[in-house]
Amino acid sequence: TRVLLTGGSGFIATHILELLLIEANLFFWYRHSVVTTVRSKSKAEKIKAVFPSYGKDRLDFSIVEDVAQKDAFKDAVLSTPPFEAVIHTASPFHFNAKDIQKDLLDPAVIGTTGILQAIKDRAPSVQRVVITSSFAAAEWNPMTLEQALSNPPSGYTASKAFAEKAAWDFLEEENPKFSLSTILPTLVFGPIVPGIHSLGSLNTSNQLIQAITMGVAKERIPDLGGYCWVDVRDVARAHVEAMESTTAANKRFLVAAGSYNNRIIVDLVRQNFPEYHSALPLESAEGGNYPDGGTFKIDNTRSKEVLGISYRRLESSVVDTVNSFKTA
Ligand code: NDP
Repeated sequence: TRVLLTGGSGFIATHILELLLIEANLFFWYRHSVVTTVRSKSKAEKIKAVFPSYGKDRLDFSIVEDVAQKDAFKDAVLSTPPFEAVIHTASPFHFNAKDIQKDLLDPAVIGTTGILQAIKDRAPSVQRVVITSSFAAAEWNPMTLEQALSNPPSGYTASKAFAEKAAWDFLEEENPKFSLSTILPTLVFGPIVPGIHSLGSLNTSNQLIQAITMGVAKERIPDLGGYCWVDVRDVARAHVEAMESTTAANKRFLVAAGSYNNRIIVDLVRQNFPEYHSALPLESAEGGNYPDGGTFKIDNTRSKEVLGISYRRLESSVVDTVNSFKTA
């Protein structure tokens, strides 16, 4: 399959890229070739250096500096041979927005509608589009624009809900030739890829694990968190399966391994990494428990049945995450 992957330098996207390339290696009759968008030439160079054995015919790049710009994907959707599938992951995930509309909402929403419009107008060969949405958009998060603009975490959550809603609306109103699948991951942990990612600019969802290993939670374990988690490699697998499976068409997939709290993460780091003991909170430290009244109930049945995902365990995810920090 000829695939366009947006945001190739991202935490989740790098794992999708790896799967697309490696899967095609294992089964030579089943080769994918990928063009991935990045914001700069230097990011393309970094990715290329991590996958040195793939030539231009298997891994190529296209520069899209800002998905919120009008016609950002006009050229990126064109390819020889033509694209058959698109996986759209590029969207801001951070809480340091100064202008929530411009920094979070616009790239999420305009990025999504922009790529769908470009595919419809200029890439009629595309049959399946997979979009990375979020648990934050599940149950059709009913946030208003006013709530979205009130603080960056709300802005991020709303950006995902507004963007996914805009995608389904696009399908209904524009009736394009392609079908859509959306992936809704909970908070994603898992190894970063040294050479592409660094501790200085760590993706948002791994930051708490890094903070714990650096002694930030020594006095008190933070309570904040998503309380539901999933490993990045399972999220990547869900995207690729959704791209390939005919039964995944026009479905939303909640991709979630289970519940966690920050105290459990601290305990897993303690059990597996004696070298971090002096940085960790004392066993008597307070905080990091589930909120009073419990947390979300998640149902990941559809992801198992349709996409065949078998979820990794929290311990192996945390261990692999911390080990990846050591080499980054
Ligand atoms: P990253 O921050 O690692 O990846 C985000 C990607 O989007 C990067 O490649 C980034 O490029 C790109 N990007 C952001 N803004 C723009 C823009 N304006 N124009 C062009 N590219 C842009 O985060 P993740 O990999 O975690 O996130 C990927 C997707 O997964 C996002 O859609 C996110 O909302 C979603 N998601 C993530 C979860 C998680 O816990 N990690 C949970 C649920 C959903 P660059 O690095 O060059 O800035």
